[in-house]
Amino acid sequence: MKIKFWGCRGSIPVPDRRMIRYGGNTTCIEVTIDNKTLIIDAGTGIRMLGEDLINRKISDMDIFITHSHWDHIQGFPFFMPIYSGKTNINIFGCTNSYRQLKSIFAKQMSIEYFPVRFSELKSNINFVEACGSEYTISNHKIKTIRTNHPIFTVGLRIEKNDKSFVFITDNEIMDEKPQTSRTEFVNFCKDATYLVHDTQFKEEEYATRKGWGHSTFKQAVDLARYSDVKNLGFFHHDPDRKDSELDIIEKQFKDYCRDKGYKFSVFAVKEMDEINL
Ligand SMILES: [Zn+2]
Repeated sequence: MKIKFWGCRGSIPVPDRRMIRYGGNTTCIEVTIDNKTLIIDAGTGIRMLGEDLINRKISDMDIFITHSHWDHIQGFPFFMPIYSGKTNINIFGCTNSYRQLKSIFAKQMSIEYFPVRFSELKSNINFVEACGSEYTISNHKIKTIRTNHPIFTVGLRIEKNDKSFVFITDNEIMDEKPQTSRTEFVNFCKDATYLVHDTQFKEEEYATRKGWGHSTFKQAVDLARYSDVKNLGFFHHDPDRKDSELDIIEKQFKDYCRDKGYKFSVFAVKEMDEINL
C-alpha cells in the first residue's frame, strides 16, 4: 500500500509563504494498492493529483468522500481527469442524512459558481452511497466509522494483510454526548500501522471551539496511545498554523511521547509526504 498526501490543510486553502512547507492545499490523499487508485476526498490537493494521474496514464479510480464540507470537495471541478472521456470514476460517500451525493457535486458546478456544468463532463462518473460499515473497493478492504462532526462524516481503516492505514479527519474526540465514543475509536484504530488524525487545535484554542468537530494534538496522542498504533500523523492543520509553529508542536509531542515511554512515533503530515506500507 502506498499513501501520498496531496493536501493536509483544514478548512480553507492557504497560499501563504509562512505555510509552504506543510502545504496549503485542503484534504486529498491517494492510496495505491496493487496498481489500483483510491482517492480520499476532493479538497484542493486533487488538482495536482489529477495532473499526475494523467501523466501516469491512470484513468480508472475510486474516490471516497468523508463528507461534503467545502474543504473536502472544492477541488473536484479542477480535477482534470473528469474532462476526459477515457476516465472512469466511482465516487463513494454517505450522505443519506442530507442531500444526495450526486446533487452536492452537481450543485457546486452550477452556473452561479463555475463555468462548466456537471452534465457537460465527459468522464464516466458513478455515484455509490456508502453508508455501511465495511466495503471492498478495488481489492481495498475498507472499514468505516462515523466521526463526531456537525454533519455525517466517516473515518476509514484500509487494511492489506497485516498493514493498516487509519484516516480520521474532521473528528472531535469528546466525552460529552459523542456520536461515537472514545472506546469505539480506540477499537477502530487498534494496532494500526499508521493513524492519521485531525489535530486542528491546540489545547488553549479548543476551549472556545468545542462542538466544531475537530480535535487537539493531545487528544490524538491519547487515542494513539490507547490504540497501540505504530505511527501517528497530525492532519487537518489549522489555516492559521504556520510552518514554524507546526515544527515546534511536532517536537513538543515527540519529546512528550518519548518522556512518557510511548512506543509510537509522531509526525506532522506535510503535503507530498509519502508512506509505503
Ligand atoms: Zn475539513
